[in-house]
Amino acid sequence: MSDLVLEARRVADIEEAEHEVYVPDPGVVEHSYIKDPDAFYAESVKDIPAFWESQAEGLDWYKKWDRVLDDSRAPFYRWFVGGKTNIVLNALDRHVKTWRKNKLALIWEGEPGDSRTMSYYALNREVNKFSNVLRGMGVKKGDRVTIYMGRIPEIMVAMLACAKIGAIHSVVFGGFSENALGDRIEDAQSRVLITQDGNWLRGKVIDLKTIVDAAIRRSPVVEKVIVVQRANNAVNMEAGRDFWYHDLMSLPIAMTSSETEVMEATDPLYMLYTSGSTGKPKGLVHLHGGYQVGIASTLKYAFDVSDEDRWWCAADPGWVTGHSYIVYAPLILGLTSFMYEGAPNFPYPDRWWQLIAKYGISHFYTAPTAIRGLMRFGPAWPKRHDLSTLKVLGTVGEPINPEAWRWYYRYVGQNRCPVIDTWWQTETGAFMITPTPARALKPGSATRPFPGIVADVVDENGESTEADQEGFLVIKHPWPAMLAGIYGDPDRYVNTYWGKFPGVYLAGDAARKDADGYFWVIGRIDDVINVSGHRLGTAEIESALVSHPAVAEAAAIGLPDEVKGQGIHCWVLLRNGYQASDALAEDLKLHVRREISPIASPDKIYFPSTLPKTRSGKIMRRVLKARALGMAEGDVSTLEE
Ligand code: ATP
Ligand code: MG
Repeated sequence: MSDLVLEARRVADIEEAEHEVYVPDPGVVEHSYIKDPDAFYAESVKDIPAFWESQAEGLDWYKKWDRVLDDSRAPFYRWFVGGKTNIVLNALDRHVKTWRKNKLALIWEGEPGDSRTMSYYALNREVNKFSNVLRGMGVKKGDRVTIYMGRIPEIMVAMLACAKIGAIHSVVFGGFSENALGDRIEDAQSRVLITQDGNWLRGKVIDLKTIVDAAIRRSPVVEKVIVVQRANNAVNMEAGRDFWYHDLMSLPIAMTSSETEVMEATDPLYMLYTSGSTGKPKGLVHLHGGYQVGIASTLKYAFDVSDEDRWWCAADPGWVTGHSYIVYAPLILGLTSFMYEGAPNFPYPDRWWQLIAKYGISHFYTAPTAIRGLMRFGPAWPKRHDLSTLKVLGTVGEPINPEAWRWYYRYVGQNRCPVIDTWWQTETGAFMITPTPARALKPGSATRPFPGIVADVVDENGESTEADQEGFLVIKHPWPAMLAGIYGDPDRYVNTYWGKFPGVYLAGDAARKDADGYFWVIGRIDDVINVSGHRLGTAEIESALVSHPAVAEAAAIGLPDEVKGQGIHCWVLLRNGYQASDALAEDLKLHVRREISPIASPDKIYFPSTLPKTRSGKIMRRVLKARALGMAEGDVSTLEE
């Protein structure tokens, strides 16, 4: 589509993204599962358990549930109570009985350029064998297994094999340090750990095994370590404790047939930690039954995926995004997924675009941090690749700055692909507020709640706010993929999420709804900046900065100010070709003043060379704040160095 048509699509004022509406193409609407999002939503919330029950009917169960939603022990809500299932029944077992047995489940490329593929048949066979290996090591239903790996096919095999035998996996992102890994092993009390000899990242091998060895010295609960050989890295193998994956897989015990454990719908599937953006990470638990229903429906409807598509979620399996939308949901839907081992900017900032063209990816899902990072290098990089196979784009992790949204829409999606901005959390398990492709889009807004989800913005008293008034983002009805609790800490679960408003889930984000009912996440509750009584979200100030041509990324925090209560301090990373100067700082202040209001004008602008981020790429404002105030930085286990 030409830029002219694009401009015509933007209704009204470009300055305010709120009035910049992207109406979906008729072709997109026609192809969409949900052609009229408002009508579909209205129907879904007439009887919420009935809606989710209808979604659950589309999956396989060993035995159907007795009750869809049990709220007798609220806020410990349980879904599909009495039902018997296993997520692997839906992710693999049912597919290998059909033509999908021959379909590719996974296409994988390593950073050095090597590649592998696995059909559903091959993946199932590998999972069966490995599940028997784990059983042979004495792993039983309910045991915790820690997985510490990079993005290679075996991480999927390891997760699925655990699920198959009813063991609870605890995946620790492969970028974590020995201390963070040790703490998580300790927390989970895992006797078995699965890792690899190393993984490729930016032209180097990261030696995961040495980190594992150090972590186990801290937390000696681990008795057995299984090591996948990936990088031909010379690693220390401790006799009696460490075993090569390929050795175990060639033993007679690694039989190709394996019974899938029949699980209660309410049995745990995995535990996983939040990103630690706002404090010490929380170890959350998700269950087999409701979780599979939530993730499968959300992926299907939000991205309009079908059998002919090639899905690429470029997150890491070590985060909830990877658990739900790399491993489990795509397999449940019988899709072909693509996984890439390395970094997006290696060897050049077009590696992702090159891969999309090479494999004909149709759906691509990433995070604002990655988009901003690649935007820094300019549009020439995506422009040199044929991205015509793309149909739908997605984003998750932070509020996407409208400028980054436009760049993504224009240069990656070529003014053709809807950008599905999915608001959700490790806790929610699945998308909560998200467009479906037939919904009109506004850059920077996750639009409206997914069918069956009741989200709202409320004030201190729990009353819904007026249009455009900032407040607390809450969920007012339980949903199937919701967390079961915080591992080993029921009180923290109740207090953190259900303590402020009775019966209402507090997300911890500040947001507002506009006159069209579209949600705008404006930052974390704790980060809201109060200038002379005016409350400002960090995302609003940061997005205003990012809309300046010199700025690639920005972080804003409030610091004590004698006159105004709080003053606004901003850390800014510049795009390639721009230099820091006092004049630029003044220009940026003026720019924010014009974009938002004089109240939002930053008091100080700093030009650092990096921003403190979590290893999942989120800006850690609490670290900036602690540093500025000379205070202790708190739990920085998830801080990227
Ligand atoms: P912690 O809970 O430990 O502080 P975290 O909240 O960053 O870490 P995650 O569960 O990974 O841990 O992230 C969920 C949060 O990410 C949400 O609460 C929200 O602040 C932010 N987020 C995710 N997706 C979006 C989105 N599409 N738009 C705006 N914010 C988003
Ligand atoms: Mg959180």
